Amino acid sequence: MKIAFFDTKPYDKPSFDRYGEAAGITFKYFEAKLNEDTVDLAQGYDGVCAFVNDTVNSTVIDRLAQLGVKVLALRCAGFNNVDVRHAYGRLHVLRVPAYSPYAVAEHTMALLLTSIRRIHKAYIRSRDFNFSLAGLTGFDLHGKTVGVIGTGRIGRVFIDICRGFGMKVLAYDKYPADGLDNGDTVRYVGLDELFRHSDIISLHCPLTEDTYHIIDEAALEKCKKGVVLLNTSRGALVDAEALLGGIKSRQVGAACLDVYEEESDLFFEDNSGHILEDDTLARLISMPNVIVTSHQAFLTEEALENIAETTVQNLSSFFKTGECPNELCYRCGKTEDCRHGKCF
Ligand code: NAD
Repeated sequence: MKIAFFDTKPYDKPSFDRYGEAAGITFKYFEAKLNEDTVDLAQGYDGVCAFVNDTVNSTVIDRLAQLGVKVLALRCAGFNNVDVRHAYGRLHVLRVPAYSPYAVAEHTMALLLTSIRRIHKAYIRSRDFNFSLAGLTGFDLHGKTVGVIGTGRIGRVFIDICRGFGMKVLAYDKYPADGLDNGDTVRYVGLDELFRHSDIISLHCPLTEDTYHIIDEAALEKCKKGVVLLNTSRGALVDAEALLGGIKSRQVGAACLDVYEEESDLFFEDNSGHILEDDTLARLISMPNVIVTSHQAFLTEEALENIAETTVQNLSSFFKTGECPNELCYRCGKTEDCRHGKCF
């Protein structure tokens, strides 16, 4: 089987080549992102493999179907960049629902600690033999309240990490997990209560119509003054303009962003020689209390192995049996516990 692999980065190839070879799947690596301009590169391939910033809208889906491409294998968990409803009946969409949730949860805590203990500042200072501590005062996490929005795989690992630090957890999820709320250190609450009582808020829900700009101006106004916002989920969960306003007004004490609403043309690329057109991102990055990483939370050796292994298993299963347990159901957007049956 031949698969057109879009938005290839050097770190993708070793694991995909290894698992692909063992399963009889050949990947043709394209550096281009999948979109309306590049979709014809998929001509002659049995399937395409795409990542978070590829654009799989109705036009791309229709063209892929015309080209005879049967399957889209996402090498990620989120699928907000795919018009899954339009894909119904035209293209099978497979994904990697779970890969090292520890990678993302641990990166979230790394960002939080870096930010509140000013490690990013101290690192630069000490390299210049500036050993002053002025302005580096942080605060203890022990005893603080963290609001976790989305208590799926990553959210729950992050909650465990936070509990290890002696933090209290206020959780919010559209579909609360059984057995997580212990009535004491972890409690499910409504969004308003979470906003009002959290010292730190971390986003671990998918990007959907419900969650688009879940952090907007109104939400930030409800938050404690000085709240620390962590977003390692999807950029458009946060209204970046509202966040910038919150930083300027000091309502937001710090923000750590691994994702950004308009990241698709910037993140994963070296733009150091270019003038950044996005004034909001430039202003956010210029703030001393904002840390931006470029969608790297998933990037651990373990996660890359998991992603390649599951993507190849998904494709093998699909080509051998016509079915795959990780196929997305367009109706519920889930693979597990899907009560709507197969997509086709
Ligand atoms: P998951 O499906 O296990 O958990 C998502 C949780 O969000 C579920 O419990 C679900 O019920 C909940 N949810 C759904 N709609 C909601 C709503 N409207 N309000 C509140 N909660 C809602 O997913 P996961 O593996 O934990 O991943 C979470 C998100 O992390 C993904 O959707 C993806 O966007 C993001 N992610 C980012 C990276 C990265 O590198 N930065 C890597 C992997 C995943």
